[in-house]
Amino acid sequence: MLSEPITNLKGVGKKVQEELEMMHIHTIEDLLTYFPYRYDVFEIKPLSELIHEDKVTIMGRVAHEPSLTYFGKKKSRLFFNVMVEHVAVKAVMFNRAFAKKHINQGDLVTLIGKWDAHRLQITVDQYKIGPIKPADKIKPVYSVKGKMTNYKLRKIIKQAFIDYGDHIKEHLPKHILVDYKLPNRTEALKVMHFPPNRVALKHARRRLTYEEFLLFQLKIQLLRHLNRDAQEGRAQHYDVQKVQQFIQTLPFQLTNAQQKSLNQILSDLKAPFRMNRLLQGDVGSGKTVVAAIALYASVTASRQGALMVPTEILAEQHYQSLKSLFGDHVKIALLTGTVKGKKRATILSNVENNEVDIVIGTHALIQDDVIFHNLGLAIIDEQHRFGVEQRRLLKEKGELADVLFMTATPIPRTLAITAFGDMDVSIINEMPAGRKEVETYWVKENMLEYTLDFIQRKVKQGEQAYLICPLIEESDKLDIQNAVDLYHQLQTYYPSEIKVGLMHGRLPSDEKDDVMKAFIQNKIHVLVSTTVIEVGVNVPNATVMVIYDAERFGLAQLHQLRGRVGRGRLKSYCILIAEPKGEIGKERMRIMTETTDGFLLAEEDLKLRGPGDFFGKKQSGLPEFKVADMVHDYRALETARQDASHLIEQKIIFKNPEYKTLLHELEKEGIFSKPLD
Ligand code: ADP
Ligand code: MG
Repeated sequence: MLSEPITNLKGVGKKVQEELEMMHIHTIEDLLTYFPYRYDVFEIKPLSELIHEDKVTIMGRVAHEPSLTYFGKKKSRLFFNVMVEHVAVKAVMFNRAFAKKHINQGDLVTLIGKWDAHRLQITVDQYKIGPIKPADKIKPVYSVKGKMTNYKLRKIIKQAFIDYGDHIKEHLPKHILVDYKLPNRTEALKVMHFPPNRVALKHARRRLTYEEFLLFQLKIQLLRHLNRDAQEGRAQHYDVQKVQQFIQTLPFQLTNAQQKSLNQILSDLKAPFRMNRLLQGDVGSGKTVVAAIALYASVTASRQGALMVPTEILAEQHYQSLKSLFGDHVKIALLTGTVKGKKRATILSNVENNEVDIVIGTHALIQDDVIFHNLGLAIIDEQHRFGVEQRRLLKEKGELADVLFMTATPIPRTLAITAFGDMDVSIINEMPAGRKEVETYWVKENMLEYTLDFIQRKVKQGEQAYLICPLIEESDKLDIQNAVDLYHQLQTYYPSEIKVGLMHGRLPSDEKDDVMKAFIQNKIHVLVSTTVIEVGVNVPNATVMVIYDAERFGLAQLHQLRGRVGRGRLKSYCILIAEPKGEIGKERMRIMTETTDGFLLAEEDLKLRGPGDFFGKKQSGLPEFKVADMVHDYRALETARQDASHLIEQKIIFKNPEYKTLLHELEKEGIFSKPLD
């Protein structure tokens, strides 16, 4: 059995066991699925195809006896020419004086090392007399700990195949293997560890990737199904007519995408199960009004609503805009950290006594003493800004309250279905009519003066600008210092009629409010800020967004910041000041200037930075796969998703005996509350 401990293997004693356990290898199964993290491919290519600074493999004849020179105490340099395709290639080897004895004139040698295309020179890492054997052309590289070596690990894995190879079980039904032309499980595992060639390796990976994705998709989809059946909610019988009338009073027509998302939300409210929905919409796509309508619907069903946002500025802003949308029909309250003492007590008692219909607030909403009379709908805006626990706390303020999460970070489809597999997703993928694209430029620091003058011209035309200050990683304090410095510099740089303001997270709340109000009223023309204004802030008269050190931000974040401008009728600009070092950094700046489509940006960011960085390392909530890669294998993920939903909906997975092993694998994850027979 593969669940047997590794000590059952020949050659694995106490010591080796300890080392393997450090690598989380406890059973034979763990060992067989401990895959190399990369493969070194020693493929001999024509000289003309070798890329400068790449690790390459060449083969040729040694033209003369190698010469050895010493420098320093123990340092040496071995030099010789090798004839490759009738070209003399220089070979250098450092600190391996002993190799002089092995390498002789006329020998055929294989050299592996770093290529210098300009000098036709290779700096040798590894060498071998004679050609490399076909079996050694692809070398798996494992990540090892302690005293474990790649060589030793390979030997142990080999032993495991000898002793347990026959016990490896196929998880996938035969017809899937045939349909998708996948190797069987034993074969795939073997090839992963001992790849005979690249093609075989590709198919082995393809097979294991599909298997991982299918299991994962079955798992989350089954969970969703089972949850939905198990978790009853409360139907909210809202007043359709009143809701319609309210929509009529809006100063604009809903976009199709807004309408569609709204319909999905409303039908969740009405349904007897609990809503658990994510509303995704690019910056400025109009999520707030959709939230407002949903809250209103809940109020017509005699339930209360709550809208939680990450910052006070945003809470204040939402409060104002909802107040003007609702007029006197709905009683709303604002609850933030600055609301204290008697004022707070009054609000709390009104909320508890049902004298308030909707509360808008920050984290202040989830304090223990906030008690709702009858919370029906909890909405969490910019949901990624809150921790899992905070989201849960709000949700539990109501008995079986429906929950809507909102995010302006467009999440690539592939990630959305993995990270939010247990949520329903609505997408607003359309902008209200008449929006103009924000023109985006990427400039170097030497263009700063030009940029500042550009702002000055815009201010003279009555418009306003944001300047996001340089970012210092991991240091809130220094970022603020930067903002303060920049603020002082600009005050002296600009003539006195141009008013410069300062905004950062450590300002006292009332000062923040004052600054924001002054900016909204155009009493401040240029607002120097840290990234606190990243989310939600809405000042349509601001048309210029300048971002320092733009290369330090994720694309999603840059996109959010850019979303602060282009919110009105005026043409808007985003200027990224950046000197990225690597190609990826440059590519990211280029993408920013080329598209304003948040979903496209998200896809690109994901490709460039990988899923871990996409959400930020802390709480990605992403599953870990052994072989599969969500970004590169997204097609397989999509296929697996469809297959899983077919298998579940048609109940094939439960009926067809061919799926028994797969079901068994799922059972191990504890998905089913009672064991399957
Ligand atoms: P976000 O999705 O970024 O939260 P908001 O809800 O703040 O976007 O909406 C941005 C702006 O667009 C607001 O000023 C809002 O009034 C306006 N808006 C929303 N929906 C529409 C629409 N259908 N037509 C025109 N303007 C709209
Ligand atoms: Mg918003």
